[in-house]
Amino acid sequence: MSDLYDVLVIGAGPAGYTAALYASRGNLKVLCLEGWQPGGQLTTTTVIENFPGFRDGKDGKELMKEMRDQAARFGTDYITANVSKVDFSARPFKVWVGDAVYQGRSVIIATGAKSRMLGLESEARLFSKGVSTCATCDGFFFKNKVVALLGGGDSAMEEAGFMTKYASKVYLIHRRSEFRASKIMQDRVKDNEKIEILTNKTVEEILGESVVSGIRLKDTQTGALSTLELQGVFLAIGHIPSTQLFEAVIEMDADQYILHKNHTMTNIEGVFAAGDCVDHRYRQAITAAADGCRAAMDAEKWLEAQA
Ligand code: NAP
Repeated sequence: MSDLYDVLVIGAGPAGYTAALYASRGNLKVLCLEGWQPGGQLTTTTVIENFPGFRDGKDGKELMKEMRDQAARFGTDYITANVSKVDFSARPFKVWVGDAVYQGRSVIIATGAKSRMLGLESEARLFSKGVSTCATCDGFFFKNKVVALLGGGDSAMEEAGFMTKYASKVYLIHRRSEFRASKIMQDRVKDNEKIEILTNKTVEEILGESVVSGIRLKDTQTGALSTLELQGVFLAIGHIPSTQLFEAVIEMDADQYILHKNHTMTNIEGVFAAGDCVDHRYRQAITAAADGCRAAMDAEKWLEAQA
């Protein structure tokens, strides 16, 4: 059995590292179980230009390494492996990585979210070679190119508009004829001459050997297949929170996002949650970091009250 920690942080994006920083700096004994992809989603992006404090932007991997090292400076311990099981039924809480078990007087869940994917083999093969899940991060690389933006929600509308700053043409492709996006966002897209809207179409295949060269579409009403030549495919078809590990014990909404019950505390006393595993609306590095700070402060207060 491992040492007893004051706080076990599960996850290592901006929310997890900020929670670890605040808790460690608050003189608590902290273990961050950071998974196999320390740094989370931001390590798959290039330059982050909207995180305050970096006038010229900051490489995503570097930003996350700085956050990690900053928490380590105040004493955070790390385990770089995925959590396989949790037991929050009694205190101290227990968290497993394989056969190893770690104990915490409190837990902060900061496991983030993943972009929803189509699930095509060609999509995985051409990821980062023309296929992207982040227009804000990768749009710059598509100057004067033709791109497709997939989805019918606010993200798709917003990112289609954003992409017209770079691309010569943007196809907005949606699987239905009705959009989920707010009317104002739809109107902006409809008024944008650089955007051509294609509805009732699904992407059957992303074409290209080493880079994207086109997509094959299927009309959902007629079944007709067609091909578009283009260089970029941006997915904006929603996100899936990484919360499967907690399904049976932590209360979540219908989309599996963790629900806050008392500030950042979940339905289990002493278990807190922060960042994209809770937030389906803002999903920014800065809002996740802020949430991690709040969770650490809430955990600290709660632990004080237990003493
Ligand atoms: P969303 O609202 O869940 O929309 C996802 C879209 O992707 C839907 O149109 C959905 O189609 C489509 N989709 C899902 N799975 C698909 C698949 N396998 N193949 C093809 N299409 C698929 O997600 P979101 O647009 O990321 O928005 C998430 C939340 O953030 C919303 O609450 C939104 O209002 C908010 N948001 C707000 C702003 C803003 O206010 N500025 C900007 C961005 C996001 P169906 O409609 O057919 O299900």
